Amino acid sequence: PTSEQTDDKTIVQNYFNTVGFDRWRRIYGNGEVNKVQADIRTGHQQTIDTVISWIKADTNMAGKLICDAGCGVGSLTIPLAATGARIYASDLSEKMVTEAQDRARATLERTDNLIFSVSDLETLRGEYHTVICLDVLIHYPEDKAQAMIAHLSSLASHRLILSFAPKTTAYTILKKIGEFFPGPSKATRAYLHRESEIVNILTSLGWRIERNAMTKTQFYFSRLLEAWRI
Ligand code: SAM
Repeated sequence: PTSEQTDDKTIVQNYFNTVGFDRWRRIYGNGEVNKVQADIRTGHQQTIDTVISWIKADTNMAGKLICDAGCGVGSLTIPLAATGARIYASDLSEKMVTEAQDRARATLERTDNLIFSVSDLETLRGEYHTVICLDVLIHYPEDKAQAMIAHLSSLASHRLILSFAPKTTAYTILKKIGEFFPGPSKATRAYLHRESEIVNILTSLGWRIERNAMTKTQFYFSRLLEAWRI
């Protein structure tokens, strides 16, 4: 990797092990938060609910292997595990993974179908029926998105589900960016992606978009795509 790439990742990793961890653990929780954070919480939960509804609408996933890449505190991992699928969840931030493990143990009846690891999604190996990567592309500049998606694609035998902040709402998001990354961590940038570019990447890798959704609240924007192998 180039030093620029290493720096980007190190910054993101440090952020989600420190101030970002505290902030996002609260947003992705049930406790009291401010109005902006509550709005982001609502929007993010809608994205999670949409993914779970798609997974449940499909063939029986019980026993099938799903990779949750960049799992955060397990907001998706936990309801996914409850469907009976086998889940491999990982995140670059050790703190996020530890929190996800604690939440999984506290809320799930069984966790023997769930494996967590601390890792950069680009070092993940193996073959999964479905690979899901929610709200992680926001940490990837445009020129790094192709390689990242190509890697996730190489892990997925049937289905790939991705979400990203669409570039069309750039103006609105840029205005709110101080809320995404407050204080000293403003150094952590938020990258938006043009939907046509993400679709082109997926198409060139042999995927067909089967479902899409848009979650849009006042402070949260996420475009969700579900792709299946052609
Ligand atoms: N996917 C989770 C969700 O939707 O609840 C978390 C979303 S959070 C905005 C972004 C997460 O991506 C953080 O937990 C961060 O540590 C993780 N992340 C960023 N870059 C990563 C990378 N290269 N490999 C693995 N995880 C990464």
